[in-house]
Amino acid sequence: MTSEETIKLFQQYVVPNYARFPVSLVRGEDSYVWDSEGRRYLDLFPGWGCNLLGHCPGPVVDAVRDQVGKLIHVPNTWYTEVQGRWAQALSERSFGGQAFFCNSGTEANEAAIKLARLHTPKHKYKIITFEGGFHGRTLGSTSATAQPKYHEGLGPLMAGFVYAPFGDLDAVERLIDNETAAIMIEPIQGEGGVRIPPEGFLAGLRRLCDERELLLIFDEVQTGFGRTGEWFAYQGDHVVPDIMTLAKALCGGIAGAAMLVKREIAPSLRPGMHAATFGGNPIAARAGLAAVEMIEQQSLLERGKQLGELFRSRFVELQQQCEAIRDVRVRGVMVGVELAFEGAPIVKACLERELLINCTHGNVLRLLPALTLTEELAHQGCDIIADVLRRYAANA
Ligand SMILES: *Cc1c(COP(=O)(O)O)cnc(C)c1O
Repeated sequence: MTSEETIKLFQQYVVPNYARFPVSLVRGEDSYVWDSEGRRYLDLFPGWGCNLLGHCPGPVVDAVRDQVGKLIHVPNTWYTEVQGRWAQALSERSFGGQAFFCNSGTEANEAAIKLARLHTPKHKYKIITFEGGFHGRTLGSTSATAQPKYHEGLGPLMAGFVYAPFGDLDAVERLIDNETAAIMIEPIQGEGGVRIPPEGFLAGLRRLCDERELLLIFDEVQTGFGRTGEWFAYQGDHVVPDIMTLAKALCGGIAGAAMLVKREIAPSLRPGMHAATFGGNPIAARAGLAAVEMIEQQSLLERGKQLGELFRSRFVELQQQCEAIRDVRVRGVMVGVELAFEGAPIVKACLERELLINCTHGNVLRLLPALTLTEELAHQGCDIIADVLRRYAANA
C-alpha cells in the first residue's frame, strides 16, 4: 500500500486526534526507518523516545520472539518468574524499592498520585507540580500537567494540584500547607522544552519534602532508563525520590511502564486499591529484562554520555555561527536546541532531507536519539540541521 492509500484509510477510519506527517512507515532498523515508497530516513527521534535502543534492537526482538510462544499474558492473580526478575533488575539499578507495573507513562503517574494520597494522612491530598511540566493524558495526569493548552474544554479538572514555577524553590515553599501530600516533577522537563532545573533545585525540593514530611515523586518517563547517560536522571543529580515513574524506553520499544517506590511506602498501595490488567505481562517483562542486559553488555550508558558531548559541541559551535539558536540544553541523548523562532518549519525541512527530529514547546528542536547511534550518523544529522537552519535564517 502506498502512503497515500494508507492516509485515505486513516481519513475514513481513524480518529483524527494526531497531527501526522504524510508518510507511512513500514520498517525500522537501529537509527533508520523506511516508508512505503522505499525512502530511508535517519531517525534522531525514534519512537518519540521509546526506541532508546534503536528500532528493533536484536536482543529485545529475540526475547519477545521466544516469550510470545510460551506465555503471552496471565493476570496478576498469579506469579511469574519473569515479572519478579524484572522488578529485581529495576530495583537493583535504582534505590532498592519495589515495583508496580502498568502500560504507559500516564498510568504510572496515576499510580503515583493515588499512592501519595493513600500513604499520607487522610487530610493531605494536594500535590505540587510545575509550570511547563507534562505528566500524561488521562484526567488525573492532565490535571497534574500545569499547561493551560492541555486543559482547554476539559474542565472541571481533578482537584488537588497546585502549580509552582519551575526552578523557584521559595515559591514552592510558600505553596506548601498542611494539606500537601507530595511534590511531583520531571528532573528535566521533556515536552516543556528540555528544561534543566537550576543547580540545587532538586536537592532543595528533597530538603523541603524531608522537613515537611511530603513525598517526592520524580516523573522519569522521558528521562529514565538510560536517556541521560545514567540509568535514571536523579542519579546524575544525587537526589533520590520516594516514588519514580518510568515508561517510554523501559521495554526497548514494547509498551510497558513501572512505578518504583521505596520499600516502606509500597504497602500503602494495598490489595484492591489499584491494578493494571496488562501490567507486568510476560512480553513486556522479557523485553524490559532484555533492554537492561543490552544496555549493560554494550556499555550504552557510557555511550550516551559520549554522544551527549558530541551533540553539545556541535550545537554550541553552531550557536556561535548562527543567531537562530538561543540556547543548547543537553543531558546524554536528550537534546534541546532553543530557537529564536517557531521550529515546525525546520522539522519539515529536515523531513524533506530524510531526517526525523521533533519540535516541542513551539521553538525547541528536540532530539531523543538512540544510544546505539553511531558518531558518523550523529554528525550527519547535525550537518543537515545546521544546513537547514543556516538556509532558513538567511531567508528570514
Ligand atoms: C510521555 C510522557 C508521559 C506520558 O506517557 P504515556 O506513555 O504517553 O502515557 C508522562 N510523563 C512524561 C515526562 C512524559 O514524557
